[in-house]
Amino acid sequence: SHYSDMEIVLKNLGIHSENKGSSTGSEFFANGETIESFSPTNGKLIAKVQSSSLEDYDQVLEKAKAAFLEFRKVPAPKRGELVRQFGNKLREKKEDLGKLVSYEMGKSLQEGLGEVQEMIDICDFAVGLSRQLQGSTMHSERPGHRMYEQYHPLGIVGIISAFNFPVAVWSWNTALAWICGNVTIWKPSEKAALCGVACQNIIAEVLKENNYPEGISNLLVGSHEIGKKMTSDKNINLVSFTGSTKVGREVSATVANRFGKSILELGGNNAIIISKDADLDMSIIGAVFGAVGTCGQRCTSTRRLIIHEEVYEEVKNRLVKAYGQLKIGDPLNENNHVGPLIDKDSVNQYLASIEKCKNEGGNFIVEGGVLEGENYESGCYVKPCIAEVENSYEVVQHETFAPILYLIKYKTLEEAIALQNDVPQGLSSAIMTNNLKEAEAFLSASGSDCGIANVNIGTSGAEIGGAFGGEKETGGGRESGSDAWKYYMRRQTNTINYTDNLPLAQGIKFDI
Ligand code: NAD
Repeated sequence: SHYSDMEIVLKNLGIHSENKGSSTGSEFFANGETIESFSPTNGKLIAKVQSSSLEDYDQVLEKAKAAFLEFRKVPAPKRGELVRQFGNKLREKKEDLGKLVSYEMGKSLQEGLGEVQEMIDICDFAVGLSRQLQGSTMHSERPGHRMYEQYHPLGIVGIISAFNFPVAVWSWNTALAWICGNVTIWKPSEKAALCGVACQNIIAEVLKENNYPEGISNLLVGSHEIGKKMTSDKNINLVSFTGSTKVGREVSATVANRFGKSILELGGNNAIIISKDADLDMSIIGAVFGAVGTCGQRCTSTRRLIIHEEVYEEVKNRLVKAYGQLKIGDPLNENNHVGPLIDKDSVNQYLASIEKCKNEGGNFIVEGGVLEGENYESGCYVKPCIAEVENSYEVVQHETFAPILYLIKYKTLEEAIALQNDVPQGLSSAIMTNNLKEAEAFLSASGSDCGIANVNIGTSGAEIGGAFGGEKETGGGRESGSDAWKYYMRRQTNTINYTDNLPLAQGIKFDI
Protein backbone atom coordinates (compact mmCIF):
# COMPACT_ATOMS: atom_id res chain seq x y z
CA SER A 1 0.00 0.00 0.00
CA HIS A 2 1.01 3.64 -0.33
CA TYR A 3 1.16 3.86 3.44
CA SER A 4 3.59 1.02 4.02
CA ASP A 5 6.59 3.32 4.10
CA MET A 6 4.89 6.08 6.10
CA GLU A 7 6.55 4.92 9.32
CA ILE A 8 9.93 5.35 7.69
CA VAL A 9 8.93 8.78 6.40
CA LEU A 10 7.93 9.90 9.91
CA LYS A 11 11.13 8.49 11.38
CA ASN A 12 13.25 10.31 8.79
CA LEU A 13 11.54 13.55 9.75
CA GLY A 14 12.07 13.00 13.49
CA ILE A 15 8.39 12.49 14.22
CA HIS A 16 7.45 10.07 17.00
CA SER A 17 4.06 8.85 18.14
CA GLU A 18 4.12 11.65 20.73
CA ASN A 19 5.84 14.93 19.94
CA LYS A 20 6.52 18.20 21.65
CA GLY A 21 5.10 20.89 19.44
CA SER A 22 6.86 23.98 20.70
CA SER A 23 10.55 24.40 20.60
CA THR A 24 13.58 26.45 19.86
CA GLY A 25 15.42 23.43 18.49
CA SER A 26 16.56 21.14 21.30
CA GLU A 27 14.69 23.01 24.03
CA PHE A 28 10.99 22.26 24.36
CA PHE A 29 8.29 24.42 25.85
CA ALA A 30 5.21 22.30 25.42
CA ASN A 31 2.87 22.11 28.40
CA GLY A 32 -0.42 22.73 26.62
CA GLU A 33 -3.08 20.32 25.54
CA THR A 34 -2.39 17.43 23.21
CA ILE A 35 -3.39 17.74 19.57
CA GLU A 36 -4.09 14.50 17.73
CA SER A 37 -3.32 14.64 14.04
CA PHE A 38 -5.60 12.45 11.93
CA SER A 39 -5.04 11.96 8.23
CA PRO A 40 -7.99 13.05 6.09
CA THR A 41 -6.85 10.41 3.57
CA ASN A 42 -7.79 7.41 5.74
CA GLY A 43 -9.01 8.83 9.06
CA LYS A 44 -6.14 7.24 10.96
CA LEU A 45 -4.25 8.87 13.82
CA ILE A 46 -0.79 9.81 12.50
CA ALA A 47 0.75 11.06 15.74
CA LYS A 48 0.16 13.33 18.74
CA VAL A 49 1.63 16.73 19.41
CA GLN A 50 1.74 18.45 22.76
CA SER A 51 1.01 22.12 22.15
CA SER A 52 2.24 25.15 24.02
CA SER A 53 0.57 26.96 26.86
CA LEU A 54 0.55 30.73 27.21
CA GLU A 55 3.41 30.40 29.74
CA ASP A 56 5.43 28.43 27.18
CA TYR A 57 4.90 31.34 24.84
CA ASP A 58 6.80 33.66 27.19
CA GLN A 59 9.75 31.26 27.35
CA VAL A 60 9.97 30.93 23.58
CA LEU A 61 9.75 34.70 23.22
CA GLU A 62 12.78 35.14 25.52
CA LYS A 63 14.80 32.70 23.39
CA ALA A 64 13.84 34.58 20.25
CA LYS A 65 14.73 37.96 21.73
CA ALA A 66 18.17 36.73 22.83
CA ALA A 67 18.86 35.14 19.44
CA PHE A 68 17.99 38.35 17.61
CA LEU A 69 20.62 40.32 19.53
CA GLU A 70 23.23 37.97 18.04
CA PHE A 71 21.75 37.33 14.63
CA ARG A 72 21.32 40.99 13.64
CA LYS A 73 25.11 41.36 13.79
CA VAL A 74 25.78 38.54 11.31
CA PRO A 75 26.48 39.97 7.80
CA ALA A 76 23.58 39.43 5.42
CA PRO A 77 25.53 37.22 2.95
CA LYS A 78 26.50 34.97 5.89
CA ARG A 79 22.84 34.74 6.79
CA GLY A 80 22.32 33.79 3.15
CA GLU A 81 24.80 30.94 3.63
CA LEU A 82 22.58 29.60 6.43
CA VAL A 83 19.59 29.69 4.08
CA ARG A 84 21.64 28.00 1.33
CA GLN A 85 22.35 25.09 3.67
CA PHE A 86 18.70 24.99 4.71
CA GLY A 87 17.74 24.69 1.02
CA ASN A 88 20.17 21.80 0.60
CA LYS A 89 18.75 20.03 3.65
CA LEU A 90 15.30 20.41 2.11
CA ARG A 91 16.59 18.80 -1.09
CA GLU A 92 17.63 15.76 1.01
CA LYS A 93 14.26 15.66 2.77
CA LYS A 94 12.04 16.52 -0.20
CA GLU A 95 10.57 13.04 -0.67
CA ASP A 96 9.80 12.54 3.04
CA LEU A 97 8.42 16.02 3.69
CA GLY A 98 6.33 15.95 0.51
CA LYS A 99 4.78 12.65 1.61
CA LEU A 100 4.01 14.00 5.06
CA VAL A 101 2.30 17.06 3.54
CA SER A 102 0.20 14.79 1.37
CA TYR A 103 -0.64 12.45 4.25
CA GLU A 104 -1.43 15.06 6.91
CA MET A 105 -3.11 17.71 4.71
CA GLY A 106 -4.56 15.47 1.99
CA LYS A 107 -3.26 17.15 -1.18
CA SER A 108 -1.88 14.96 -3.95
CA LEU A 109 1.65 13.62 -3.58
CA GLN A 110 2.68 15.65 -6.65
CA GLU A 111 1.42 18.80 -4.96
CA GLY A 112 3.07 17.85 -1.66
CA LEU A 113 6.40 17.47 -3.44
CA GLY A 114 5.69 20.71 -5.30
CA GLU A 115 5.31 22.51 -2.00
CA VAL A 116 8.72 21.35 -0.87
CA GLN A 117 10.14 22.39 -4.24
CA GLU A 118 8.73 25.87 -3.59
CA MET A 119 10.62 25.90 -0.28
CA ILE A 120 13.82 25.01 -2.10
CA ASP A 121 13.18 27.68 -4.74
CA ILE A 122 12.57 30.46 -2.21
CA CYS A 123 15.80 29.49 -0.43
CA ASP A 124 17.74 29.89 -3.71
CA PHE A 125 16.03 33.21 -4.30
CA ALA A 126 16.84 34.42 -0.77
CA VAL A 127 20.50 33.40 -1.02
CA GLY A 128 21.00 35.71 -4.01
CA LEU A 129 18.96 38.41 -2.34
CA SER A 130 21.19 38.32 0.74
CA ARG A 131 23.76 40.31 -1.27
CA GLN A 132 21.19 42.69 -2.71
CA LEU A 133 19.35 44.30 0.20
CA GLN A 134 19.87 47.62 -1.47
CA GLY A 135 18.83 51.10 -0.49
CA SER A 136 19.15 54.27 -2.60
CA THR A 137 21.51 57.20 -2.33
CA MET A 138 20.15 60.71 -2.83
CA HIS A 139 21.76 64.08 -3.41
CA SER A 140 21.56 66.37 -0.41
CA GLU A 141 20.44 69.96 -0.95
CA ARG A 142 23.11 71.07 1.53
CA PRO A 143 26.81 71.41 0.63
CA GLY A 144 29.16 68.87 2.17
CA HIS A 145 26.37 66.48 3.05
CA ARG A 146 25.68 62.95 2.00
CA MET A 147 22.29 61.27 2.17
CA TYR A 148 21.34 57.66 1.71
CA GLU A 149 18.96 55.02 3.00
CA GLN A 150 19.58 51.60 4.41
CA TYR A 151 17.55 48.62 5.56
CA HIS A 152 17.93 47.07 9.00
CA PRO A 153 16.41 43.91 10.48
CA LEU A 154 13.02 44.36 12.16
CA GLY A 155 13.39 41.93 15.06
CA ILE A 156 10.93 39.12 15.61
CA VAL A 157 8.74 38.00 12.72
CA GLY A 158 5.66 36.06 13.79
CA ILE A 159 4.22 33.69 11.22
CA ILE A 160 0.65 32.41 11.60
CA SER A 161 -0.23 30.03 8.80
CA ALA A 162 -3.18 28.19 7.29
CA PHE A 163 -3.59 24.43 6.93
CA ASN A 164 -3.62 24.31 3.13
CA PHE A 165 0.03 25.19 2.49
CA PRO A 166 1.41 23.71 5.68
CA VAL A 167 5.11 24.04 4.83
CA ALA A 168 5.63 26.42 1.87
CA VAL A 169 4.12 29.52 3.50
CA TRP A 170 6.47 29.16 6.45
CA SER A 171 9.50 29.07 4.15
CA TRP A 172 8.32 31.99 1.98
CA ASN A 173 8.43 34.01 5.19
CA THR A 174 11.41 32.50 6.95
CA ALA A 175 13.84 32.45 4.02
CA LEU A 176 13.35 36.20 3.55
CA ALA A 177 13.06 37.01 7.26
CA TRP A 178 16.34 35.26 8.04
CA ILE A 179 18.45 36.80 5.29
CA CYS A 180 17.04 40.16 6.46
CA GLY A 181 18.46 39.41 9.93
CA ASN A 182 15.24 38.61 11.78
CA VAL A 183 14.35 35.69 13.98
CA THR A 184 11.03 33.91 13.53
CA ILE A 185 8.27 32.43 15.66
CA TRP A 186 5.89 30.17 13.77
CA LYS A 187 2.41 29.09 14.76
CA PRO A 188 1.36 26.55 12.15
CA SER A 189 -2.26 25.59 11.69
CA GLU A 190 -3.36 23.18 14.39
CA LYS A 191 -4.72 21.07 11.49
CA ALA A 192 -1.18 20.46 10.21
CA ALA A 193 0.85 20.38 13.42
CA LEU A 194 3.14 17.54 12.32
CA CYS A 195 4.28 19.50 9.27
CA GLY A 196 5.31 22.20 11.74
CA VAL A 197 7.29 19.78 13.88
CA ALA A 198 9.00 18.30 10.80
CA CYS A 199 10.07 21.71 9.46
CA GLN A 200 11.38 22.79 12.85
CA ASN A 201 13.43 19.57 13.10
CA ILE A 202 15.02 20.31 9.73
CA ILE A 203 16.04 23.91 10.48
CA ALA A 204 17.15 23.02 14.02
CA GLU A 205 19.67 20.61 12.52
CA VAL A 206 21.05 23.31 10.19
CA LEU A 207 21.29 25.88 13.01
CA LYS A 208 23.11 23.37 15.20
CA GLU A 209 25.60 22.46 12.46
CA ASN A 210 26.44 26.16 12.17
CA ASN A 211 26.59 26.91 15.90
CA TYR A 212 23.84 29.46 15.62
CA PRO A 213 21.47 30.17 18.53
CA GLU A 214 18.42 27.94 18.26
CA GLY A 215 16.08 30.88 18.92
CA ILE A 216 16.55 32.05 15.32
CA SER A 217 13.72 29.67 14.38
CA ASN A 218 11.01 28.96 16.93
CA LEU A 219 7.91 26.82 16.76
CA LEU A 220 4.71 27.28 18.75
CA VAL A 221 2.12 24.65 18.00
CA GLY A 222 -1.14 25.79 19.48
CA SER A 223 -4.67 27.02 19.03
CA HIS A 224 -5.96 30.44 18.07
CA GLU A 225 -5.15 31.54 21.66
CA ILE A 226 -1.45 31.45 20.79
CA GLY A 227 -2.21 33.29 17.56
CA LYS A 228 -4.07 35.98 19.49
CA LYS A 229 -1.20 36.36 21.91
CA MET A 230 1.20 36.84 18.99
CA THR A 231 -0.92 39.51 17.35
CA SER A 232 -1.30 41.54 20.52
CA ASP A 233 2.35 41.22 21.62
CA LYS A 234 4.37 44.36 20.88
CA ASN A 235 7.54 42.22 20.84
CA ILE A 236 6.43 40.72 17.54
CA ASN A 237 7.51 43.41 15.09
CA LEU A 238 5.86 41.88 12.04
CA VAL A 239 2.94 39.46 11.97
CA SER A 240 2.71 37.58 8.70
CA PHE A 241 -0.76 36.07 8.69
CA THR A 242 -2.10 33.60 6.13
CA GLY A 243 -5.66 32.46 6.63
CA SER A 244 -9.29 33.38 6.28
CA THR A 245 -10.58 36.93 5.81
CA LYS A 246 -12.65 36.55 8.99
CA VAL A 247 -9.62 35.93 11.19
CA GLY A 248 -7.41 38.27 9.16
CA ARG A 249 -9.74 41.17 9.86
CA GLU A 250 -9.23 40.65 13.60
CA VAL A 251 -5.46 40.15 13.25
CA SER A 252 -5.15 43.29 11.14
CA ALA A 253 -6.98 45.48 13.66
CA THR A 254 -5.11 44.13 16.67
CA VAL A 255 -1.68 44.57 15.08
CA ALA A 256 -2.53 48.03 13.74
CA ASN A 257 -3.75 49.11 17.16
CA ARG A 258 -0.26 48.61 18.57
CA PHE A 259 1.36 50.08 15.44
CA GLY A 260 2.92 46.75 14.53
CA LYS A 261 3.46 45.68 10.95
CA SER A 262 1.45 42.98 9.26
CA ILE A 263 1.39 41.04 6.03
CA LEU A 264 -2.11 39.73 5.34
CA GLU A 265 -2.64 36.87 2.91
CA LEU A 266 -6.36 36.15 3.11
CA GLY A 267 -9.12 34.52 1.12
CA GLY A 268 -9.65 34.65 -2.64
CA ASN A 269 -12.59 34.34 -5.00
CA ASN A 270 -10.77 33.76 -8.23
CA ALA A 271 -12.24 33.78 -11.71
CA ILE A 272 -11.17 32.81 -15.20
CA ILE A 273 -12.74 34.72 -18.07
CA ILE A 274 -13.11 32.40 -21.07
CA SER A 275 -13.38 34.51 -24.22
CA LYS A 276 -14.89 33.40 -27.53
CA ASP A 277 -11.31 33.77 -28.81
CA ALA A 278 -9.89 31.36 -26.22
CA ASP A 279 -8.07 28.11 -26.92
CA LEU A 280 -10.77 25.90 -25.39
CA ASP A 281 -8.55 22.84 -24.88
CA MET A 282 -6.24 24.91 -22.71
CA SER A 283 -9.14 26.64 -21.01
CA ILE A 284 -10.74 23.37 -19.90
CA ILE A 285 -7.51 21.97 -18.45
CA GLY A 286 -6.77 25.26 -16.65
CA ALA A 287 -10.27 25.55 -15.28
CA VAL A 288 -10.56 21.95 -14.10
CA PHE A 289 -7.13 21.89 -12.44
CA GLY A 290 -7.84 25.27 -10.85
CA ALA A 291 -11.21 24.16 -9.50
CA VAL A 292 -10.49 20.62 -8.27
CA GLY A 293 -6.72 20.68 -7.55
CA THR A 294 -6.01 20.44 -3.79
CA CYS A 295 -9.74 19.64 -3.62
CA GLY A 296 -10.52 23.33 -4.12
CA GLN A 297 -8.52 24.29 -1.03
CA ARG A 298 -6.06 26.74 -2.52
CA CYS A 299 -6.37 30.44 -1.88
CA THR A 300 -5.95 30.71 -5.67
CA SER A 301 -8.43 27.91 -6.56
CA THR A 302 -10.70 28.75 -9.48
CA ARG A 303 -14.14 29.44 -8.03
CA ARG A 304 -15.85 31.20 -10.95
CA LEU A 305 -15.77 30.79 -14.74
CA ILE A 306 -17.05 33.82 -16.64
CA ILE A 307 -17.77 32.46 -20.11
CA HIS A 308 -18.66 34.23 -23.35
CA GLU A 309 -22.19 33.38 -24.50
CA GLU A 310 -20.98 32.10 -27.89
CA VAL A 311 -18.82 29.36 -26.33
CA TYR A 312 -20.84 28.88 -23.14
CA GLU A 313 -22.65 25.68 -24.17
CA GLU A 314 -19.50 24.08 -25.54
CA VAL A 315 -17.45 24.91 -22.43
CA LYS A 316 -20.26 23.65 -20.21
CA ASN A 317 -20.51 20.33 -22.06
CA ARG A 318 -16.76 19.79 -22.04
CA LEU A 319 -16.58 20.55 -18.31
CA VAL A 320 -19.30 18.01 -17.56
CA LYS A 321 -17.38 15.44 -19.58
CA ALA A 322 -14.07 16.27 -17.85
CA TYR A 323 -15.65 16.07 -14.39
CA GLY A 324 -17.05 12.68 -15.31
CA GLN A 325 -13.50 11.41 -15.75
CA LEU A 326 -12.12 12.68 -12.43
CA LYS A 327 -10.80 9.98 -10.11
CA ILE A 328 -11.42 10.78 -6.45
CA GLY A 329 -9.44 8.97 -3.79
CA ASP A 330 -6.23 8.51 -1.84
CA PRO A 331 -3.99 11.45 -2.78
CA LEU A 332 -0.85 9.35 -2.27
CA ASN A 333 -1.99 7.22 -5.20
CA GLU A 334 -0.88 9.13 -8.27
CA ASN A 335 -3.73 7.77 -10.38
CA ASN A 336 -6.20 9.93 -8.47
CA HIS A 337 -6.96 13.54 -9.41
CA VAL A 338 -8.84 14.67 -6.30
CA GLY A 339 -8.08 13.95 -2.65
CA PRO A 340 -10.11 14.67 0.48
CA LEU A 341 -11.10 17.91 2.23
CA ILE A 342 -9.14 18.66 5.39
CA ASP A 343 -11.82 17.59 7.90
CA LYS A 344 -15.53 17.05 8.51
CA ASP A 345 -16.15 20.70 9.39
CA SER A 346 -14.97 21.52 5.92
CA VAL A 347 -17.26 18.85 4.44
CA ASN A 348 -20.19 20.43 6.29
CA GLN A 349 -19.34 23.87 4.93
CA TYR A 350 -19.20 22.40 1.43
CA LEU A 351 -22.65 20.82 1.88
CA ALA A 352 -24.08 24.00 3.36
CA SER A 353 -22.81 26.06 0.41
CA ILE A 354 -24.38 23.65 -2.09
CA GLU A 355 -27.67 23.92 -0.22
CA LYS A 356 -27.44 27.68 -0.12
CA CYS A 357 -26.61 27.86 -3.82
CA LYS A 358 -29.69 25.77 -4.66
CA ASN A 359 -31.87 27.98 -2.49
CA GLU A 360 -30.61 31.07 -4.26
CA GLY A 361 -31.52 29.56 -7.64
CA GLY A 362 -28.27 27.83 -8.68
CA ASN A 363 -28.61 25.08 -11.31
CA PHE A 364 -26.23 22.18 -10.66
CA ILE A 365 -25.01 20.61 -13.89
CA VAL A 366 -22.61 18.35 -11.97
CA GLU A 367 -24.00 17.31 -8.61
CA GLY A 368 -21.95 17.27 -5.41
CA GLY A 369 -22.11 14.93 -2.45
CA VAL A 370 -20.04 13.06 0.10
CA LEU A 371 -18.46 9.76 -0.89
CA GLU A 372 -18.97 6.72 1.30
CA GLY A 373 -17.75 3.16 1.47
CA GLU A 374 -14.43 1.47 0.88
CA ASN A 375 -11.44 3.86 0.68
CA TYR A 376 -13.63 6.76 1.79
CA GLU A 377 -13.73 5.84 5.49
CA SER A 378 -12.38 9.22 6.62
CA GLY A 379 -15.65 10.86 5.53
CA CYS A 380 -13.70 13.74 3.96
CA TYR A 381 -13.98 12.81 0.27
CA VAL A 382 -16.47 14.89 -1.71
CA LYS A 383 -17.51 15.18 -5.36
CA PRO A 384 -16.35 18.28 -7.21
CA CYS A 385 -19.47 19.98 -8.53
CA ILE A 386 -20.52 22.73 -10.96
CA ALA A 387 -23.45 25.15 -10.77
CA GLU A 388 -24.82 27.80 -13.13
CA VAL A 389 -25.33 30.94 -11.06
CA GLU A 390 -25.59 34.71 -10.96
CA ASN A 391 -22.46 36.49 -9.74
CA SER A 392 -24.58 38.40 -7.23
CA TYR A 393 -25.65 35.33 -5.20
CA GLU A 394 -24.45 35.61 -1.62
CA VAL A 395 -22.84 32.17 -1.84
CA VAL A 396 -20.92 33.17 -4.97
CA GLN A 397 -19.62 36.32 -3.28
CA HIS A 398 -18.23 34.15 -0.47
CA GLU A 399 -15.13 31.91 -0.55
CA THR A 400 -16.16 28.30 0.13
CA PHE A 401 -12.95 26.32 0.61
CA ALA A 402 -14.09 23.30 -1.41
CA PRO A 403 -14.43 22.15 -5.05
CA ILE A 404 -17.58 24.03 -6.08
CA LEU A 405 -17.28 25.77 -9.46
CA TYR A 406 -19.69 28.52 -10.53
CA LEU A 407 -20.50 29.29 -14.18
CA ILE A 408 -21.54 32.77 -15.27
CA LYS A 409 -22.36 33.92 -18.82
CA TYR A 410 -21.24 37.22 -20.39
CA LYS A 411 -21.72 39.20 -23.61
CA THR A 412 -19.04 41.93 -23.65
CA LEU A 413 -15.51 42.00 -22.24
CA GLU A 414 -16.38 45.09 -20.23
CA GLU A 415 -19.18 43.16 -18.57
CA ALA A 416 -16.87 40.16 -17.95
CA ILE A 417 -14.25 42.34 -16.23
CA ALA A 418 -16.93 44.03 -14.14
CA LEU A 419 -18.25 40.62 -13.02
CA GLN A 420 -14.76 39.35 -12.26
CA ASN A 421 -14.07 42.41 -10.08
CA ASP A 422 -17.48 42.43 -8.43
CA VAL A 423 -16.58 40.32 -5.36
CA PRO A 424 -15.11 41.43 -2.01
CA GLN A 425 -11.84 39.51 -2.58
CA GLY A 426 -8.98 40.37 -4.97
CA LEU A 427 -6.38 37.61 -5.13
CA SER A 428 -6.00 35.86 -8.49
CA SER A 429 -7.61 36.28 -11.90
CA ALA A 430 -7.12 35.11 -15.47
CA ILE A 431 -8.33 35.54 -19.01
CA MET A 432 -8.13 32.86 -21.69
CA THR A 433 -7.94 34.58 -25.06
CA ASN A 434 -5.85 34.75 -28.22
CA ASN A 435 -7.09 38.28 -28.82
CA LEU A 436 -4.33 40.76 -28.01
CA LYS A 437 -6.72 43.63 -27.43
CA GLU A 438 -8.72 41.64 -24.88
CA ALA A 439 -5.58 40.49 -23.06
CA GLU A 440 -4.21 44.02 -22.77
CA ALA A 441 -7.57 45.44 -21.68
CA PHE A 442 -7.75 42.79 -18.95
CA LEU A 443 -4.29 43.79 -17.67
CA SER A 444 -4.85 47.55 -17.94
CA ALA A 445 -5.77 49.99 -15.18
CA SER A 446 -9.42 49.41 -16.02
CA GLY A 447 -8.97 45.63 -16.07
CA SER A 448 -8.59 43.08 -13.29
CA ASP A 449 -8.38 44.55 -9.77
CA CYS A 450 -6.52 41.50 -8.37
CA GLY A 451 -2.98 41.13 -7.05
CA ILE A 452 -2.42 38.41 -9.66
CA ALA A 453 -3.70 38.71 -13.24
CA ASN A 454 -2.79 36.04 -15.81
CA VAL A 455 -3.27 35.56 -19.53
CA ASN A 456 -3.67 32.05 -20.92
CA ILE A 457 -2.88 30.29 -17.68
CA GLY A 458 -5.28 29.58 -14.83
CA THR A 459 -5.61 31.30 -11.46
CA SER A 460 -3.67 28.82 -9.33
CA GLY A 461 -0.01 27.93 -9.13
CA ALA A 462 2.13 31.03 -8.69
CA GLU A 463 5.92 31.09 -9.02
CA ILE A 464 8.06 32.25 -6.09
CA GLY A 465 9.84 34.93 -8.16
CA GLY A 466 6.82 37.24 -8.21
CA ALA A 467 5.30 39.09 -5.27
CA PHE A 468 2.34 37.03 -4.07
CA GLY A 469 -0.84 38.46 -2.58
CA GLY A 470 -4.03 40.30 -3.32
CA GLU A 471 -6.16 43.37 -2.87
CA LYS A 472 -9.41 44.22 -1.07
CA GLU A 473 -10.48 41.55 1.44
CA THR A 474 -7.46 39.44 0.45
CA GLY A 475 -5.60 41.84 2.73
CA GLY A 476 -3.12 43.73 0.51
CA GLY A 477 0.01 41.86 1.66
CA ARG A 478 2.77 40.66 -0.65
CA GLU A 479 5.25 37.94 0.10
CA SER A 480 7.80 35.72 -1.64
CA GLY A 481 9.54 37.26 -4.68
CA SER A 482 10.16 40.68 -6.25
CA ASP A 483 10.78 43.30 -3.53
CA ALA A 484 8.59 41.64 -0.85
CA TRP A 485 11.75 41.46 1.31
CA LYS A 486 11.24 45.14 2.16
CA TYR A 487 8.34 44.18 4.43
CA TYR A 488 10.81 42.30 6.62
CA MET A 489 13.14 45.26 7.25
CA ARG A 490 12.95 48.73 8.67
CA ARG A 491 14.05 51.58 6.43
CA GLN A 492 16.32 54.31 7.69
CA THR A 493 17.31 57.58 6.01
CA ASN A 494 20.79 58.80 6.94
CA THR A 495 22.27 62.27 6.44
CA ILE A 496 25.94 62.89 7.15
CA ASN A 497 27.51 66.36 7.39
CA TYR A 498 31.26 66.36 6.66
CA THR A 499 31.76 70.17 6.94
CA ASP A 500 32.44 72.47 9.91
CA ASN A 501 29.13 74.27 9.45
CA LEU A 502 25.60 73.30 10.39
CA PRO A 503 23.35 74.46 7.54
CA LEU A 504 19.69 73.71 8.17
CA ALA A 505 17.40 72.23 5.57
CA GLN A 506 15.10 74.52 3.58
CA GLY A 507 17.62 77.36 4.19
CA ILE A 508 16.27 78.07 7.66
CA LYS A 509 18.42 80.51 9.68
CA PHE A 510 18.91 79.91 13.42
CA ASP A 511 21.71 82.02 14.98
CA ILE A 512 22.61 82.01 18.64
P1 NAD B 1 -8.00 30.17 9.45
O1 NAD B 1 -8.19 31.65 9.30
O2 NAD B 1 -9.07 29.38 10.08
O3 NAD B 1 -6.67 29.88 10.29
C1 NAD B 1 -5.41 30.40 9.93
C2 NAD B 1 -4.50 30.45 11.15
O4 NAD B 1 -4.95 31.45 12.06
C3 NAD B 1 -4.43 29.17 11.96
O5 NAD B 1 -3.08 28.94 12.33
C4 NAD B 1 -5.29 29.47 13.16
O6 NAD B 1 -4.95 28.74 14.31
C5 NAD B 1 -5.00 30.94 13.37
N1 NAD B 1 -6.02 31.70 14.12
C6 NAD B 1 -7.35 31.42 14.26
N2 NAD B 1 -7.97 32.41 14.98
C7 NAD B 1 -7.01 33.32 15.28
C8 NAD B 1 -7.03 34.57 15.96
N3 NAD B 1 -8.16 35.07 16.49
N4 NAD B 1 -5.87 35.26 16.07
C9 NAD B 1 -4.73 34.80 15.51
N5 NAD B 1 -4.66 33.61 14.85
C10 NAD B 1 -5.78 32.88 14.74
O7 NAD B 1 -7.67 29.64 7.97
P2 NAD B 1 -7.53 28.13 7.44
O8 NAD B 1 -8.86 27.47 7.41
O9 NAD B 1 -6.41 27.43 8.10
O10 NAD B 1 -7.05 28.41 5.92
C11 NAD B 1 -7.90 28.67 4.86
C12 NAD B 1 -7.94 30.15 4.52
O11 NAD B 1 -6.63 30.65 4.30
C13 NAD B 1 -8.69 30.42 3.23
O12 NAD B 1 -9.50 31.57 3.40
C14 NAD B 1 -7.57 30.70 2.23
O13 NAD B 1 -7.97 31.48 1.13
C15 NAD B 1 -6.59 31.39 3.08
N6 NAD B 1 -5.26 31.34 2.48
C16 NAD B 1 -4.76 32.46 1.89
C17 NAD B 1 -3.53 32.43 1.27
C18 NAD B 1 -2.97 33.64 0.61
O14 NAD B 1 -1.78 33.65 0.36
N7 NAD B 1 -3.74 34.66 0.31
C19 NAD B 1 -2.78 31.25 1.27
C20 NAD B 1 -3.31 30.11 1.89
C21 NAD B 1 -4.55 30.18 2.49
